[in-house]
Formats: sequence, structure tokens, C-alpha cells
Amino acid sequence: MADNQDHNVVDSQKPKTFPLSLALVFIMGLCIINLRDTQPIIPIFGFHGITNHKNSNLPSQQEDMDYPQQDLEKLLNYLIVHDYWFLSTQDLYDFYLTKSKEIPATHRYKKPIMLTFDDGYKTISTNLLPLLSKLEKKYKQKVKVVLFINPGTLASDKSVASTHLGCRELREGLQKEFFDIQSHGLNHKNLTEISRPQLVNELLRARIELRKCTQDLDPDQRVASHLAYPYGAYNKQVESYVFKYYLSSYLYNNEILDSSCLTNYYKIPRLMVNRHNSNKELIKMAENFKLNQKTSKPKIKC
Ligand SMILES: [Zn+2]
Repeated sequence: MADNQDHNVVDSQKPKTFPLSLALVFIMGLCIINLRDTQPIIPIFGFHGITNHKNSNLPSQQEDMDYPQQDLEKLLNYLIVHDYWFLSTQDLYDFYLTKSKEIPATHRYKKPIMLTFDDGYKTISTNLLPLLSKLEKKYKQKVKVVLFINPGTLASDKSVASTHLGCRELREGLQKEFFDIQSHGLNHKNLTEISRPQLVNELLRARIELRKCTQDLDPDQRVASHLAYPYGAYNKQVESYVFKYYLSSYLYNNEILDSSCLTNYYKIPRLMVNRHNSNKELIKMAENFKLNQKTSKPKIKC
């Protein structure tokens, strides 16, 4: 009897503690699954040109904004191996901002990131495109990059000396499915410092010119559907006109996107990158934020 009573005591204690720990494990598991499932913190890096100092002299002042190809290669290798998803502007818009499309099962547990390159420098064709092809051969995977282009500065197809890309090079990267080509205004004007007709011209002509260059390769008109404000400069008037012609717009403000709380699609934050940011620093930024460490720098944009 005594034994039975002891058993009863032990048994009656078990249900109190065991389900509690089980419940805790279950809740923690749910949190982890939920965190991996949503990944709301999305680093969007803002690059410019890509330098290759094996082939050129010491960096000039202009190249301060550019990023070394060797460092970029290390960064991209890391991101591919660690299962990052290189978003296009339309992917971000559909899957994370409007949430109008469901993330495909194949991508649900990948880590979203976006790599953007502003101003359409020639080095995107000479130093970035070959690197993307090399990585495709190595990993059988395409790295998608977003180019914010000013069609007013596009080189003519005959120009050899131009510092900027031409339409032919944009088409080549689009055809190979590496480039997501978007607008950066027609002539890289500060949109807050021009008249309304000029503002409309900068926004509308940029879209027309870019689509003219790519139309037969872009039946769904994905090209020039999104914009990055030149110099990151915007105000209420600029925003209201951008709203008429584009689906979303990107800043250049060194903040990081929390897609769970960003409601204004015309203020998408980007992290500024220059040659002083080591690839390790960029990896750290991307990795820290996937764990939703809201106290870390840079600031999370909501
Ligand atoms: Zn720019």
C-alpha cells in the first residue's frame, strides 16, 4: 500500500512538471520556426562601381564609393554557401511588402537579402558580370543584382571610353538573368531641387528610356517599375509623383529594413557600402540582423 501510495505521489507530481517543460520546448520550437519562416529583417546593400586593382592604379577619390571585386567575391561566396536568397525589387515588393504572393516553398527557409548597384558604372559589366558568371558555374546558382540606372548617362553603343554602361550591356545582363534593371531618375538630379515639370520628366522619361532599351526582353514590364532616389533625396512632393509612376522607392540612409512594420513602400531603407567596409563587416551586418537583434546598429527602419 505504502509503495502504491509513493507511486501515486510520484505520478501525481509528474504531470505538473513534465508538460510544463514540454510546453516550453514546444513554444521555443514554434518561435524558431516562426523566425525562420518570416525573416522580416532584410539587409539591402547599396553599392556603386566595382574595382579590380589588379588591373588599375591606386583608388582615386571617386573610387572611394566603389567596392573591390576580390572582397565582393568573398562576400558572395559566403552568402551563397549560407543559403541567402538574392531578392529582386519585385520579389521584395510581392513577398515581403505587399505580401500579395506567398513565398515559394523552395525559398521559405532561405535568408532574404538584396544587393543594389547605383549609377550604372561600366565596371558593373567589366568586373561584376564576369564574377556572377563564375559563381554560376561554381554553384549552379544565379546571383540576382539590382541596378538603379540613369538612362540619361547611358553610353552610346559605339563608345569605348565611357565610364558608364550602355544599353547593350544592360541587355546582356538582363538576358542572362543576373540584372534587375530599375530607375534612378533620368539624369541623377536631386529631385527635391527641381521644378514639377522637370520632376515629371526625370521620373517618366527614365522609365520610358529604360523600357525602350529592354522592351523585347521584358514582356511583363518589370524594368523601371521601382526607383532609388538620387542622393537618397526626397520630400512630400517627390514622393507623391514617384507614387504615380513607380511601385516602390529606395532611400540611401544606412538603415535596415524590417518588412513586418514598413508600411510606406516609398521609403525602403538601404545600407550604404563603400570600399572601407570589409566583406567580414558586411557578413556580420547580414548575419546579426537575421536574428532580429533590434538593439544592434544600424537602425532598423519602421
Ligand atoms: Zn546615385
